[in-house]
Amino acid sequence: MGQCRRLHNIRKSTVSILVLILLLPYLRHVINEGRAKLAGIAKDHPRQLVTAPAIHVKHSFEKEQATRNDNNVTVNLCPIVPPNLIGAFFVNMEPESFEEIQKRHPYIKPGGRFQPLDCKSRHRVAIIVPFRDRESHLKILLKNLLPMLERQQLDYGIYVVEMAMPTTFNRAVLMNIGYKEALKDYDFQCFIFHDVDHIPENDLNLYNCQRSPSHLAVSVDKNNYKLPYPGAFGGVVALTKEHVIKVNGWSNMYFGWGCEDDDLYQRIHQNGLKVSRGPAEIGRYKMVKHLRDKTNQKNKDRANLLKGMKTRMRSDGLNSLKYDVLKREYRPLFAYIFVRIPVEGDTKSHH
Ligand code: UDP
Ligand code: MN
Repeated sequence: MGQCRRLHNIRKSTVSILVLILLLPYLRHVINEGRAKLAGIAKDHPRQLVTAPAIHVKHSFEKEQATRNDNNVTVNLCPIVPPNLIGAFFVNMEPESFEEIQKRHPYIKPGGRFQPLDCKSRHRVAIIVPFRDRESHLKILLKNLLPMLERQQLDYGIYVVEMAMPTTFNRAVLMNIGYKEALKDYDFQCFIFHDVDHIPENDLNLYNCQRSPSHLAVSVDKNNYKLPYPGAFGGVVALTKEHVIKVNGWSNMYFGWGCEDDDLYQRIHQNGLKVSRGPAEIGRYKMVKHLRDKTNQKNKDRANLLKGMKTRMRSDGLNSLKYDVLKREYRPLFAYIFVRIPVEGDTKSHH
């Protein structure tokens, strides 16, 4: 019985193989036709095929936002590498009103605060901008910087610190004040000290903090995109809260233009830290063209101050910072801090 069955099976499978062989050309025809149809769709509607995933992303984005707003549920940490970076981007150097810029950034909260909507940021970053009489520069900066910071998925705040007239401008003091005032609002971990006229050109230049303090404005158009000297530390730099504390912040004594950034660079090295720098192609900036400001002339004393930096470092900085806040406003795109800095000459003239 067993054998009969086997013979029958063999006969059955021979028949199926024969049928398959006969059908093969037809099957091939059906498969090829299907392929051609798919290719046709791709040709006729390439945009739909390309944009389909984007539509999906947007949908989940809105859902996450609702989850967070309604139930305050914590979402996943953002990826280590932000997924939407584009590298070099077109920089638009035309100023635009704050209202127009605000329209494109509906998720920014008063004081220029932002958090990614669909994940929890890995970086709490305060951007400190020293400022006086450069409103058009600020408009150009925000217009180009805000989209980049959003793509970098930062939990950030922007602090514009303005020094009242008529005191000679002091960039470093404004940096110290920005640092202190930002910490009153939020537990920022990372501070980007940012000239108002430096417009970034590449979003791979990440505005976060690393183990070492870093110089972000590596190549600026005004310097033909070259580092002016090996110890340059101007324009835009990033320090963690711990770095700032370790070096006692910036010196308060540089009134007028020059050397306050070199002083900070030396403080960093004197305290056993090193400055890191990314590749020049990424740390690229355009500087808004301007003349030397009347109240920020070259500081004649700057070389002497720099010579004495080591002996002053422990007593001149965050721990000796003095200022009066004249205005503190949470404007739609930034926190505005207007300050007066007491100067010895001024106090004498009042008495
Ligand atoms: N700054 C300002 N108003 C002034 C002088 C300086 O806002 O009157 C700020 C501004 O952020 C500027 C930075 O200080 O980008 C550095 O000054 P400046 O641009 O004059 O220096 P340089 O162009 O020589 O690097
Ligand atoms: Mn400048």
